[in-house]
Amino acid sequence: MIVELRQVGREFRRGTTVRALNEVDLDLAAGDYLAITGPSGAGKSTMLNILGLLDRPTSGEYLFDGVATSGLDDRRRSALRGASIGFVFQSFHLLPGRTVLQNVMLAFVYGRVPRAERIDRATEALDRVGLTHRTDFHPGTLSGGERQRVAIARAVCTGPRLLLADEPTGNLDQANAESVMQLFDELNADGLTLVVITHDIAIAERARRRVGISDGRLTEFAR
Ligand code: ADP
Ligand code: ADP
Repeated sequence: MIVELRQVGREFRRGTTVRALNEVDLDLAAGDYLAITGPSGAGKSTMLNILGLLDRPTSGEYLFDGVATSGLDDRRRSALRGASIGFVFQSFHLLPGRTVLQNVMLAFVYGRVPRAERIDRATEALDRVGLTHRTDFHPGTLSGGERQRVAIARAVCTGPRLLLADEPTGNLDQANAESVMQLFDELNADGLTLVVITHDIAIAERARRRVGISDGRLTEFAR
């Protein structure tokens, strides 16, 4: 299993205690494609932050690729995140002053990959998302769908085991959303494990598995 959540809880204490996640169990095998849906405040972002090793459970255990993450210090968690997990966000998070290629190469900022190899791998990732012709453009000159595909190239060029996407089509029109979802289908067909948070049921139905989250509790939908 890539991901095993065992009775994971996350509480926030601010005067009163909020249980953002409550006794969550989840297994994700290599090659799974999971959509998480649920209303605002249900715990989706908390879940993604925990899966992405950006936050820690306050109870239970998260095993990533068989490793109990509660036993890792912050440095090891960052290293594991950098080597194994890619992130895609609703608002793309591209740097406007850099070219498309330079934006993708930012994925290697914390690694020790030689420059020539960084260029090769970024170029290859841009080919994979169909943006070879945009390599030297600036993000401001691209459509929303193209920008999100640059962000996806950046997320996958390091070869992650798991890709986490938070409302990846939330800022896109229907046609651009479709091109992003098509790309996710292809990445998943190539074996990448995907978790997508979405409000959009049509998007969620593209995934192989769907879980709903409500008041911090997970419910899996039958297929
Ligand atoms: P969603 O992403 O589904 O909208 P969140 O995971 O952001 O939901 O939030 C789940 C619950 O946890 C909400 O009640 C929210 O207010 C609370 N919460 C999330 N982050 C924090 C935080 N940093 N401090 C306090 N409460 C938080
Ligand atoms: P959105 O683009 O969907 O609005 P946010 O900017 O709210 O996403 O980011 C969602 C979460 O991811 C936040 O908790 C934020 O701290 C975190 N985050 C943002 N950018 C990065 C990044 N480049 N790497 C890792 N985590 C990030």
